[in-house]
Amino acid sequence: TLSKRLETITKYLPKEAIFADIGSDHAYLPIAVCQRDDSARAIAGELNKGPYLAAIEHVEKYQLAERIQVIQGDGLDVIRNHPVKQIVIAGMGGGLIRSILERGKDTLKTVERLILQPNVDSQYIREWANANDFSLVDEDILEEDGHIYEILVLDKSDQAKSTFLSDQVCLFGPFLLEKRNDTFKKKWQRELVNYQRIINQMEQAKVLDVAKIAEYNRRVKWIEQVIK
Ligand code: SAM
Repeated sequence: TLSKRLETITKYLPKEAIFADIGSDHAYLPIAVCQRDDSARAIAGELNKGPYLAAIEHVEKYQLAERIQVIQGDGLDVIRNHPVKQIVIAGMGGGLIRSILERGKDTLKTVERLILQPNVDSQYIREWANANDFSLVDEDILEEDGHIYEILVLDKSDQAKSTFLSDQVCLFGPFLLEKRNDTFKKKWQRELVNYQRIINQMEQAKVLDVAKIAEYNRRVKWIEQVIK
């Protein structure tokens, strides 16, 4: 069985998905999706040898090699000759996910949907959406084993027609902000404590990065507003 985190990601893939899972590790996600849907097909991309070999072994064990192709490569390079309709990138920082999308932009022509699960810094992905032909269509937030995870769903759209998200909305997420559920409040309660600790440490260490302290203070104000 899949973790709650990966299970939630699968909800955003359509039936008969033709997708790539970038940084697939053991290929758990494509295996589960293809086991449940005979028409689904996937590319499992992995940069590193260890996880790449583990993915091959798992795919063979479940006899899914005809529908799941495991390819070793960096980011979206693995779909260059294998056009897909959906892409999943999960379990990495938002900065890394953004750089993978940015570097592989030219491979996204056939791609209709991106399902992204950044462990931290999801704002970088919303900022990327602001500047590219994808717009945020849904967001999810969940807690598992004490960790809180966000899932961002982006669909291909004309940049000119999609809504531009402000810095504040990029930080919290428009859909998450709208729902403001308990998990969301818990996350930002934690972040508030974090930011306050960082600000204190910087002040005590006499770090005079005025711009950074101002930015963190600005976020603290925003957070206080959204969780009150
Ligand atoms: N996606 C899985 C999940 O969410 O459970 C695995 C997440 S694991 C923490 C991150 C994986 O991404 C590692 O297996 C790592 O080797 C791979 N990875 C890191 N950078 C990558 C890149 N640029 N291209 C492809 N895979 C990458």
